[in-house]
Amino acid sequence: MRLDKLLANMSVGSRKEVKALLKAKKVTLNGEIVKDSSVKVDPDNDSVRVEGEPVIYQKYIYVMLHKPQGVVSATTDAKDKTVIDLLSEQDQHFRPFPVGRLDKDTEGLLLITNNGDLAHQLTSPNKEVPKVYRANVQGELPADVIQQFAEGVTLDDGYQTKPAKLEILASEEEADVSEVQIEITEGKFHQIKRMFEAVHCQVTYLKRCQMGGLTLDSQLSRGTYRPLTEEEIAACF
Ligand code: URA
Repeated sequence: MRLDKLLANMSVGSRKEVKALLKAKKVTLNGEIVKDSSVKVDPDNDSVRVEGEPVIYQKYIYVMLHKPQGVVSATTDAKDKTVIDLLSEQDQHFRPFPVGRLDKDTEGLLLITNNGDLAHQLTSPNKEVPKVYRANVQGELPADVIQQFAEGVTLDDGYQTKPAKLEILASEEEADVSEVQIEITEGKFHQIKRMFEAVHCQVTYLKRCQMGGLTLDSQLSRGTYRPLTEEEIAACF
């Protein structure tokens, strides 16, 4: 990778500022002053210092975002704000992407990384990673809905869902509204909403709280994020 790219990605400065540092002979590569910004470096093996301070190369970024409603789980979008737009410019340098998708009107836990292996661990269908959601549901839930979800329901396209764990947290019978928690181990398009449609109910609010070993940090307000801890990263693999 180019030296100026590495320095800019590691927040040493903008490309222009990096150029000035190089010109001022403040950057060394393996102990030698270097002035050429295009020189190629091996981030894992070369030693780069700026004014004597080592620049430690970070390849991957892992962040936990509390996704708010109204933004899309994509890297770019022609009309909507994306979850990547919520990251700082510095973090966007890593070319991160969301791990899996939440609908535009769904909020909650979203992992963002540039590590494809980690994304695969969490989203590959055969890993059956559990995902826990809280939902508000409109309509009369069938008396045996917990059993129906445990056995799998048939979605509008004929797909039979894998066993899901449903817990009814609160129910207001007169208004036909319920608050539920549901755990699924797959991630079909609009899956939770379609599972409730299969029992003639409608999801009016949806939030993801957990994904595998990750739990949404209660300190994160909507639209904010933080890096994963070492333990959280390890829990994803
Ligand atoms: N299921 C849905 O219906 N929507 C989501 O965003 C996630 C799961």
